[in-house]
Amino acid sequence: MRIDLHTHSTASDGTLTPAELVKAASGAGLDVLALTDHDTTAGWAPARAALPAGLTLLPGMELSCYWSHPHGRITLHLLVYLFDPAEEAFATERARLRASRIARAQRIVELFRADGIDVSWDEVLADAAGGTIGRPHLARALMRRGLVADTSDAFRTEWLGQRYRLPKDDTDVFEALRLARGAGGVVVFAHPRATRRGQLVPDRLIVALAEQGLFGLEADHPDHAPGERAHVRALAHRLGLVVTGSSDFHGSHKTVQLGQELTAPLVYEQIVAAATGNQPVRG
Ligand code: AMP
Ligand code: FE
Ligand code: FE
Ligand code: ZN
Repeated sequence: MRIDLHTHSTASDGTLTPAELVKAASGAGLDVLALTDHDTTAGWAPARAALPAGLTLLPGMELSCYWSHPHGRITLHLLVYLFDPAEEAFATERARLRASRIARAQRIVELFRADGIDVSWDEVLADAAGGTIGRPHLARALMRRGLVADTSDAFRTEWLGQRYRLPKDDTDVFEALRLARGAGGVVVFAHPRATRRGQLVPDRLIVALAEQGLFGLEADHPDHAPGERAHVRALAHRLGLVVTGSSDFHGSHKTVQLGQELTAPLVYEQIVAAATGNQPVRG
């Protein structure tokens, strides 16, 4: 069984449509694919409608969160699987997050324009094509102007990494966990040691989240070096959490391939068994 539990489509900042993504997953020899777009479930229906025979779709989402500590905030991502998309409190929070992303992206476009970089809001909106807007869409506007070579280049400190970095109004991580579980979902901490993406949270936060019902940690992720994977595995073992492995595929925004990192079948079964909000869809 080849199981990849973290991927993005054009419903957020991936470059394949949900239909193209499930076809690509099947072509990559996957048996199970989780669709985990940022802060939205909009990709689920088109993915399901295009699901190839033999592929199982695990409906999921990657939620934008922050952890508040006495000296500031650290942003982090939670993967939520198999929650009920109709549960109101969680749905309301997702909508709020998407609105906050739009407001932030608009402000970043204004910063560009104040510096004489002629990116228009309409252009960014059209590129996002109704999906959740993220910094990769702003990166693409810079690429089209030849100002940066690729997405990673656009995340350097001169660009979206610092100079044009603005916060969005994410969800407090404990509230996020409560909402996700309230909608019947199973929660896995995404890439907890990915240093490239900013500040890391301390292990004591993960201990506290485990006490509140966190189910797993993503250990095998393209942004984790071998030592980081070992650290995450040991922490998960100590706390009784499962470990997952996933590609975090974004299409051509990144170089990783579908199925580049995989989750063990037993862990997949544990996630499905623990969920009460939704079920996998078999193609
Ligand atoms: P946002 O959610 O709008 O803050 O944008 C974050 C997204 O940008 C992540 O989900 C990744 O898709 C992408 N990203 C973050 N850091 C990097 C990086 N260093 N290089 C390339 N893509 C990145
Ligand atoms: Fe992303
Ligand atoms: Fe992420
Ligand atoms: Zn992701």
